[in-house]
Amino acid sequence: MLEANVFNIERYATEDGYGIRTVIFLKGCQLRCRWCANPESQEFKPQVLVNVNSCISCGKCMNVCPNKAVFYKKGFGYLSDRLLCTACGDCITQCYVDARKLMGTVMNREELLDIILRDEKYYAKSGGGVTFSGGEPFFYAEMIREIGKEMKQRGYNSLVETCGQVPLERIKQASQEVDYIYFDFKHYNPVKHKELTGFDNSLILSNLEWLDKEYTGHLAVRYPYIPGCNSDDDAIRGFFQYIKQLTNIKEIVFLPYHRLGLPKYQGLGRTYEMGELRSLKKVEMVHLYDTAKEYGLDIKIQ
Ligand code: SF4
Ligand code: SF4
Repeated sequence: MLEANVFNIERYATEDGYGIRTVIFLKGCQLRCRWCANPESQEFKPQVLVNVNSCISCGKCMNVCPNKAVFYKKGFGYLSDRLLCTACGDCITQCYVDARKLMGTVMNREELLDIILRDEKYYAKSGGGVTFSGGEPFFYAEMIREIGKEMKQRGYNSLVETCGQVPLERIKQASQEVDYIYFDFKHYNPVKHKELTGFDNSLILSNLEWLDKEYTGHLAVRYPYIPGCNSDDDAIRGFFQYIKQLTNIKEIVFLPYHRLGLPKYQGLGRTYEMGELRSLKKVEMVHLYDTAKEYGLDIKIQ
């Protein structure tokens, strides 16, 4: 049976692709980008995420946990230790203010399609479809291929947002059934890339180059623009220099840094490595248009 570990489903989404979409967020990613806005997506196994602002510190979750995984952290509240927690869900049912949520539910193809196809009429009217986000969706390549096929047959589209850190075989398995691929680019320099994400960029670049040659759908490259990480002139020019050699990139999109992930780090008991760095406004990035022109490239800032 085809299965995927899903940590969120967003219906009527308009940001992650064209038209009205259903976004399926899949769990598991090898990279550990410092600025990741979805820290609950990184681990492959399910996890408990606590909304520290809703918690009323009743302590019921701690009393009920069979694995003694719940602990109190001053300034945060009652959190779950990721190594001890088995995701049994007992603490979640005990929390009557709904401050605890299980991130990660195994779903099969039929269950996912049932949800995705509830919004068929919106896809038909808006040119929308399904988006697989994450985490790294291509780890669930077989599922994506099967759902992509089904969407095509019905006249709707599918899109994958990938970080590229996944064996090429997985990309080959699914990519031709997917209409759009949004491929993230973090840093052109392998040493910097490793510092920022935990891995160098060799696999990511070779996967991007394969897609550039072989993929027949719409390939977009997206650059999360993170001050202090990959926003300096060298990083930007290195990126443009690299990307201008590719021939099949339909869009280059810059994404401004934001801090929306911060409460989720708190709810997982993790440190937010971006400190006090404030969110960026698009207007602070307009100089990128001119630099891109020097390389003969058109860019968008989302
Ligand atoms: S997370 Fe829920 S059950 Fe646990 S202490 Fe907070 S309010 Fe109580
Ligand atoms: S999900 Fe189960 S094991 Fe994990 S913290 Fe809650 S009660 Fe404990």
